[in-house]
Amino acid sequence: MTKLILSDIKKTYRLGNETMPAVNGVSLRFRQNEFVSILGPSGCGKTTFLNVIGGLDQYDSGDLIINGLSTKKFKNADWDAYRNRSIGFVFQNYNLISHQSVLHNVEISMTLSGVSVSERRRRAIEALKAVGLVDQLKKKPAQMSGGQMQRVAIARALVNNPDIILADEPTGALDSHTSEQVMEILKEISKTRLVIMVTHNSELAEKYSSRIIRMLDGEIQSDSNPLAEDKSEAKPEEDKSEAKPESVNSKAKRLRKTSMSMVTAASLSYKNLLTKRGRTLITSFAGSIGIIGVALVLALSSGLSAYMETMQSDTLAGFPITITRTTQTLQVEPRDGNGNLLGAGDDEGKFPNDNLIYNYDSQVSTRQHTNNLTADYLDYISALPDSVEDAVNNISYTRGVGMNVLAKGSETVVQYSSAVRNDDSFQSQAGAMMGGGSDAYWQEMPDNHEYILSLYDLIGEGSRMPENKNEILLVVNEYNQIEKSFFEKLGITSGENYQMNDFIGKQLLTVVPNDEYYIRDGELFTSATGSDYEKLFDGENGVHLTVSGILRIKEDAATNYFSEGFVYTPELTNHIVLSAQQSEIALAQIDSDKNVITDVPFADNAAKEQQLLLFGADTTPTGISIYPKNFESKEQIKEYLDVYNVNKPDEEQIIYTDMAEMITSVTGTLLDTVSYVLIGFAAISLLVSTIMIAIITYVSVIERTKEIGVLRAVGARKKDISRVFNAETMIIGLTAGMFGVGLTYLLSIPINIVIERLVGISSLALLNPGHAIILILGSIALTLIAGFIPSRMAAEKDPVEALRTE
Ligand code: ADP
Ligand code: MG
Repeated sequence: MTKLILSDIKKTYRLGNETMPAVNGVSLRFRQNEFVSILGPSGCGKTTFLNVIGGLDQYDSGDLIINGLSTKKFKNADWDAYRNRSIGFVFQNYNLISHQSVLHNVEISMTLSGVSVSERRRRAIEALKAVGLVDQLKKKPAQMSGGQMQRVAIARALVNNPDIILADEPTGALDSHTSEQVMEILKEISKTRLVIMVTHNSELAEKYSSRIIRMLDGEIQSDSNPLAEDKSEAKPEEDKSEAKPESVNSKAKRLRKTSMSMVTAASLSYKNLLTKRGRTLITSFAGSIGIIGVALVLALSSGLSAYMETMQSDTLAGFPITITRTTQTLQVEPRDGNGNLLGAGDDEGKFPNDNLIYNYDSQVSTRQHTNNLTADYLDYISALPDSVEDAVNNISYTRGVGMNVLAKGSETVVQYSSAVRNDDSFQSQAGAMMGGGSDAYWQEMPDNHEYILSLYDLIGEGSRMPENKNEILLVVNEYNQIEKSFFEKLGITSGENYQMNDFIGKQLLTVVPNDEYYIRDGELFTSATGSDYEKLFDGENGVHLTVSGILRIKEDAATNYFSEGFVYTPELTNHIVLSAQQSEIALAQIDSDKNVITDVPFADNAAKEQQLLLFGADTTPTGISIYPKNFESKEQIKEYLDVYNVNKPDEEQIIYTDMAEMITSVTGTLLDTVSYVLIGFAAISLLVSTIMIAIITYVSVIERTKEIGVLRAVGARKKDISRVFNAETMIIGLTAGMFGVGLTYLLSIPINIVIERLVGISSLALLNPGHAIILILGSIALTLIAGFIPSRMAAEKDPVEALRTE
């Protein structure tokens, strides 16, 4: 039975202009099973001949017919499959992969032919049993003798159950005793397969082989046992395996394409990297430096911008957008005596071209605008769309209602605050202008406790937030101080220092309802005086206020929201507004053009309105303060407020004041610029480490050239070779990325300690986990790119040359 037919095979090497025929028209026929020895002097073309048969090298002309299948039209993938399934190579220098165990060396060709792991192991052990090495599975090639290594190589050649074993001087490096052992094994194999062995040891050839072919200068000189042409033999078919379904033809099935899985590639590379642990670690560490650079910049800049955000929010807490009943619009452009702009338009008149020098009135003229806070507008503010609502920290309303507050700080009860003062101080007038609630040491707190506690700490034993309208808070400054006049106002004049528990839990104030505070006397009302205070303070209709806690500004809060003194709940205001609205004095004031207490006619309508507000007859808010979260959200809110004014006549427009106008977003831009510069520097280090990884991969390709040759010899495709190296760079990239991210987290600890010492900002550098993952993926991508050219070079290596390297 004919296994293999060579017809007029020629292979010529070209060196410059010279041509070197290495195989010069060889025609031979081989049996299904025989032991053929090829003998001939060095350089006669034996290795070339064997490589051509094995598909490692391609013939120039002629034909090679395997199992009746012509290889003339074979493509690369067909040759790969042919090597993997039909051929087993045994080399003089064994060509084992040094970083793989004996077992894995034998398994390697099966990893390309899609054999399951357990089947692979079973067959590898079986093949090793056949060569008598079953007890050496875990050894590395370097730990074995030459004869043992050659037996491993034979086991590797056998394991895929090939038709043909090709052995190129398999005993060339062995002593005579070991050589005989190897020959015995090959002879045994030749009982079931075709074994073609190249040797220059004619003694061994004659002793063991069944057929001796002598070669000289690329031609066949003699053949001891030629196979005659079989007349009945069918003409060779050409390979049409691609067009044929696999089950139809056994030859097509035999040549099923090889491919290496990514897992195999990764495990090959992983094992290789393990053999050079030190270098891999150093490479990964060097690669991680770029990653660390970028990661630290990201950590710092995101930490810094988070910090800026809270700082902005804190700053803005003190600078709300305010809407008050009257606003003054400043006009700072030069104007003439009549208040007209010099230069008719906005920009017109600027940078004039004429030869005149103008004079202008430096007096800044102001315009007053009255904001009519209609129910419509209040609805507009309370019905914020979600996006704007998210931009708001807090909205507080100022109510005009005056509260009649009595205090019992010491023995005697004194007046703490009132709608109409007995001393008629300017304070209350000014307070009324701003919205009556903003009396000295007497402010309303926002509804949002969380917001307050983001700016203030509760200090003192038992200190807590108010739970109902009967509870108030005391606010001290960062030195735990309150101005002297506050204590005087409370009627405390004795001691110098006060205990916190003199306040916490103590009922110190009472808000007296209008109807008890103002007594009707005919047309007019008289307000309570000092002698009535004691009774009113304890009276059951008053709202008795207990201090539930003490607030102190947080160390890192940028601004105050409250000034010193007492703050009360919006619930208290609501309660007082409701009772004041129904009070006799409020109702009486509505019907009168004179002040119902002083009997003095109001100078103008505005003065009456103020009085109505104070008595609670008019309950519309006198002011609105909107506290944005940051500069961006402030712009959002302003946009929303501007929309209200669109297409409204001047007098219906609501003009707000932006208290924080002067604080611009320059800081944000500066931060961005600094980040970009730093990222630029980090990117350079990333580039350097990428180039370094490319070089390391290149070195690895050079080092693993022989492995490339072995892989190709057992049927690996070019693609599989590049996979092996891509897997290697990916592993390095992954390690570098994880190193980088891990080290960044570690480095953040001392960096944060130093930053905290220097500028007092805690945990500023914090790498966001999302960024960490992106960086690791980025590191893998970069090393893959870096390894791309070296791994392509590896894939393109000529297998014959690759095997020849040491
Ligand atoms: P053998 O194995 O019989 O010693 P080879 O097949 O290795 O001989 O070489 C046959 C001839 O072809 C020699 O003259 C050798 O120099 C030449 N040759 C082999 N490989 C190459 C190559 N890759 N490029 C050029 N010449 C080659
Ligand atoms: Mg040779």
